[in-house]
Amino acid sequence: MSSTLFPNLLSPLHIGAVTLRNRIFSSGHDTVMVHDGAVTDQLVEYHRARAIGGAGLIIMQVAGIHETAHYTSHSLMATDDSCIDGYRRVVDAVHPHGCALFGQVFHPGREIMESTDGALPVAYAPSAVPNERFRVMPRPMSETMIAEVVAGYAAGARRLQQAGLDGVEIVASHGYLPAQFLSPTANLRTDGYGGDLEGRMRFLREVIAAVRAAVTSDFAVGVRLSSDEHNFAEDECADVVEICRRLDADGGLDYIGITEGTSASIGGSLHIVPPMSETAAYTARNAADVKAAVSIPVLVAGRINQPQEAEVVIARGQADACAMTRALICDPDMPAKAQAERPDDIRACIGCNQACIGHFQSGYPISCIQRPETGREREFGTLTITPKPKDIMVVGGGPAGMKAASIAAQRGHRVTLLEAAGRIGGQVRLAELLPGRSEFGGAATNLQSELDRYGVLVKTHVEVDAQLVAEHRPDHVIVATGARPYRPQLELDGDMTVLDAWDVISSGGSTMPKGEIVVADWRGDWTGLGVAEMLAREGRRVTLCVNGFAAGENLQRFTRISMLRAAAEAKVKVVPTARLYGADDDTVYLVDTITGEPIILDGVAGLVLALGHTPNDALLDEIEALGIPFTAVGDCLAPRTVEEAVLDGLKAAHAL
Ligand code: SF4
Repeated sequence: MSSTLFPNLLSPLHIGAVTLRNRIFSSGHDTVMVHDGAVTDQLVEYHRARAIGGAGLIIMQVAGIHETAHYTSHSLMATDDSCIDGYRRVVDAVHPHGCALFGQVFHPGREIMESTDGALPVAYAPSAVPNERFRVMPRPMSETMIAEVVAGYAAGARRLQQAGLDGVEIVASHGYLPAQFLSPTANLRTDGYGGDLEGRMRFLREVIAAVRAAVTSDFAVGVRLSSDEHNFAEDECADVVEICRRLDADGGLDYIGITEGTSASIGGSLHIVPPMSETAAYTARNAADVKAAVSIPVLVAGRINQPQEAEVVIARGQADACAMTRALICDPDMPAKAQAERPDDIRACIGCNQACIGHFQSGYPISCIQRPETGREREFGTLTITPKPKDIMVVGGGPAGMKAASIAAQRGHRVTLLEAAGRIGGQVRLAELLPGRSEFGGAATNLQSELDRYGVLVKTHVEVDAQLVAEHRPDHVIVATGARPYRPQLELDGDMTVLDAWDVISSGGSTMPKGEIVVADWRGDWTGLGVAEMLAREGRRVTLCVNGFAAGENLQRFTRISMLRAAAEAKVKVVPTARLYGADDDTVYLVDTITGEPIILDGVAGLVLALGHTPNDALLDEIEALGIPFTAVGDCLAPRTVEEAVLDGLKAAHAL
């Protein structure tokens, strides 16, 4: 079916003998929905939802092809035929909905993230050159081992075809084993697998040839490469266009996937899943260079969150298909909504990284802060319409209340949301005021449009007390009254300006004096780091005192990298392991939580407190006394993050 809004993005694409219904795909990404190296029910349902939602292609996560290829404790493995049944279950879930399915064959080389049992494994790589990020010193691979690993790629690909998948992708991106062979700094070999570009390409060429020989010609074979590793070293990817040109000329490949970043360094890793600080579709320029040099389709990945952006990439001829992985995590129905010309109904990913890659890095199944149903498809994938619609009063228009109201209304309840402030959105509206965080406001915008769509009656400037609840006597109250800044017992004595971070952020920093500012940060999230950067950008000298080892410890790693980069550019000074004790006219007193030594900062004009929150829960006891059923959600239950607030709202509305 043609589309007037997205005519290029929603047109079919031929990859070898495989035809995709559109050019939107989910790129290979770890899910932590694997158990003992095998596919689980949770993973099957995760992919089924995206196939139903209209994706043209799903590329399943990496599968290790050799016993030395376990790079996390929850890696999918394709090292023996026992993997076939699991893959087949995904095929059976995805194919009936018109979506193609590829799998990735993978060896991490030296990029071993974690142990499988607590003891570090021996890592293997082209040469004994250490990984910077995970501090792994690998053993060089012997030629015998190289042959064994090449055979492992081929055997893995054969198993994917036996399971009924449509294609396979060889992961040569992000500094993994084939990329280590390609790299002149990671590959110092003096045999036939090192030296000049021809020598360094030999391993990848052998892998491609072996994979091609192991599958039939109608099975798509692709390779994924990073066009820029952002490694601040000798430009290891300078040859990538030439590499692609030579691989294309060899034959055997049906497509090339282009991405950026590397697992090997902290700065480079940010580009594996680029956070909201990075420009939309910034990787397309390099993909275009590759596309100009090859004859086969080029796929691109890199912060393409909206179909409008993807349409431009395809229309300009920069690539043939766009990975929209987080966009599909956030809204699996995004392609169907684009096809139905309802782009305003799409829940746009905001690039926060918190519950998708953030969960993976913490060892939990991936999800989405805006759509906690993701990864929980078996519990929350189907909304049941209630046979007994109730009058639901939601008190509080932050993320928890908005999600609860939206889901309750979708289930057929009559929902009224009452908010004390003049605008709904809660803390999300604060986060969006920080430098580089404006996209965070999209979480509130998305929820607000859901409230409109599903007929929730929203009233602002309404202070709810027990009397008002008693007058309305709803069938159920969802209390989402949020939190207020927490102030521990401090010795504050003098004229110094001392304000909570929320006050400073909402004023745009104008409530803080010029000069030296101290930010005391307890939680290590966006609040302290963000307010420090905001004030420093306006010319103040800012010292961020954190109670952890470093700033932003509680942020997802890639978001943390981007916020640390911004804070460093703004010249924010960081003092670690510091607990605030008090302040007087111009001095802030802290204690080092490791040594117990005092930390005394003189000449300070203002102190910002980013010391967490305490629940606004006074209404709970009052409603309980009325005998009206109620549920507390979000920060009024326990101050946490937007993710938990939205999940609380979802659970409460499902339970009605
Ligand atoms: Fe996007 Fe954030 Fe959801 Fe991840 S958690 S999919 S980055 S909105």
